[in-house]
Order: sequence, then C-alpha cells, then structure tokens
Amino acid sequence: MPTGEELLRSKGLRVTRPRLAVLDVLAGGGHLEVDEITRRVRERLDSVSTQAVYDVLGALSRAGLSRRIEPAGSPARYEARVGDNHHHVVCRGCGEIADIDCAVGDAPCLDSGITHGFQVDEAEVTFWGLCPACQARRSTDH
Ligand SMILES: [Zn+2]
Ligand SMILES: [Zn+2]
Ligand SMILES: [Zn+2]
Repeated sequence: MPTGEELLRSKGLRVTRPRLAVLDVLAGGGHLEVDEITRRVRERLDSVSTQAVYDVLGALSRAGLSRRIEPAGSPARYEARVGDNHHHVVCRGCGEIADIDCAVGDAPCLDSGITHGFQVDEAEVTFWGLCPACQARRSTDH
C-alpha cells in the first residue's frame, strides 16, 4: 500500500496535514459522510474546519484519490476505493451502503445503444433493497 504522501505526490498534489489525515480516515474503509470524516480528522489534528475538509475531499476526488457517491435521499459520502467502477447497494430501511463488484470493471459498463449523441463515460448503477438487519427487524415486527 502506498503511503498518503506517495499518493498525493503521484497526483501532483501538495502534501498537507489535512490531506494526509483525510486520506488516512478514508483508508479505514466504508462510505463516510463529511460529518463523520470531519469528526475523525479532528481526532488526528487539533483544528480543522468543516470547510477545510470539504476542500480536501474536493481535491482528492478531482485527483481520483477518493470517490464521491450520493445515493438519492442521502448526503454525499466518500470512499477510498477508486478505479474499479464498483457499484453500490443501498438499504431502503436504514441507508446502509455496501459495495458490489462491477462485472466489467471499467466504465461505462452498461451500453444502452441509444445515447442521443452523448459521449457516455459512466453508467451510475445503484441497487436498492433491504439489508440483513432491516430484513430481520421486518420479520419480527409482525
Ligand atoms: Zn437496513
Ligand atoms: Zn463503494
Ligand atoms: Zn458495472
């Protein structure tokens, strides 16, 4: 695994403590909301504004070091798993998100054949359903 410093340098980004801290938080895995990322960054650095965290996430996402997803009805979330065009399954009950591997591996993995002249570079696929915990809750509800 490359270090945060190596990742930033590989993309030509300046190495700063907030950027390293955000990369470190994202490397822990999962799909994190900005509030959660900010909370964890503050455990590592004394004073970081929410705006600074937004700025870092923007820079990391533009550089391809983090990926932003925004399922309908949920705030934006960020993750470190990039470059594999994986998809997500979102729970309708609690909003839990899990990764689903893309069968193709690179975008766009679906071809509708009709693009109205657009040059298509991505098919955003989101699966919706109920997570195991919500299924269990539902079956004990009645
Ligand atoms: Zn759920
Ligand atoms: Zn993901
Ligand atoms: Zn796919």
